[in-house]
Amino acid sequence: MAPQLDPAQAATPSADGSVAVPAGARLVLASHNPGKLAELRAILTPLVDGLAPEQIISSAGLGAPEPVEDGLTFAANATLKARALAQATGLPAVADDSGLCVDVLGGAPGIFSARWSGRHGDDEANLQLLLGQLADVADPHRTARFTCAAVLVVPGRDGEPESVTVVERSMTGRLLHAPVGAGGFGYDPIFVPVQEDAPGGSGRTTAQMSAAEKNAISHRGQALRALTPALRDLLA
Ligand code: IMP
Repeated sequence: MAPQLDPAQAATPSADGSVAVPAGARLVLASHNPGKLAELRAILTPLVDGLAPEQIISSAGLGAPEPVEDGLTFAANATLKARALAQATGLPAVADDSGLCVDVLGGAPGIFSARWSGRHGDDEANLQLLLGQLADVADPHRTARFTCAAVLVVPGRDGEPESVTVVERSMTGRLLHAPVGAGGFGYDPIFVPVQEDAPGGSGRTTAQMSAAEKNAISHRGQALRALTPALRDLLA
């Protein structure tokens, strides 16, 4: 039987940057997005006997210091985040980093996806800027992929070095000339995954899919699932 977590036991950060975590927590996810936490819990708990959803916590509210994401690749940035969180909490930590890579732009926006327009997190401005840049690009050349690196860092015990597992997965597709669909976030309204674009597909964007449909094929869903063998070994 999994132990009950007591949120009251989560404490404030101490001077060395370490933070207290709720008793019973076994894995921490570097994210403030409740959707990502729910996704990781849904993937992992059926795979590990006795693992309760509450034992997987997110960094939201822990007060852990957040590193500057100055890596030059998705994997480098995800590793920075996971390592910092593992060091602050003493728990195994998972982090991901993702973005949209457009072939005709040589892989841009890439690691700059969230701030392509210059304003971090302004999804609408980022999307409109990209559409303008691609205005003259014909359909056959509008290929792109979402890529996600997911990283697990397990703190070393008794002087042992930490262990780092890195996986990277992509979802390929094509970019429309105008947004379609009200779901998802970021560049979803202009991204048609290759499965939907193929003969017999319905041509939907990822903004027209349910969360479950998108998770089943998405870069992030694939990357988190690719980490499960390492996580199962760790938590079993
Ligand atoms: P993050 O790694 O989740 O912070 O995502 C970085 C940025 O990449 C987001 O702000 C979006 O602009 C873009 N992005 C990453 N994944 C997706 C996705 O699944 N759909 C749409 N945009 C995405």
